Amino acid sequence: MYVIDLRHFLDTKGAIAPERGPARRMADFVTAVVSHASDYDRCGDAPGPLCFRCRVRDRLPVETSISSDDLVVWQCLACGTSGQVDHWQGSFWDLSQGLQAD
Ligand SMILES: [Zn+2]
Repeated sequence: MYVIDLRHFLDTKGAIAPERGPARRMADFVTAVVSHASDYDRCGDAPGPLCFRCRVRDRLPVETSISSDDLVVWQCLACGTSGQVDHWQGSFWDLSQGLQAD
């Protein structure tokens, strides 16, 4: 299981820090998981992001949720990869507050 602190992937402005390579792929995946899991208003069964570990031909959307202790968690049913993300609240990808302006 991956245990991820989202802040490790962000620069001082809160944007994705790694520009390329495996770290960038991971960052893109993790932020997509956070958006998917925290979007309580998303309609129906919008699929999660594609697993970053699966071979291309095996790729399936991962399942995402938010645990009782407020971690974003994901699981890939194809390859069994799973993970949890901490410190996602308040990031650009935290949709849990809806889109209202403050
Ligand atoms: Zn997978």
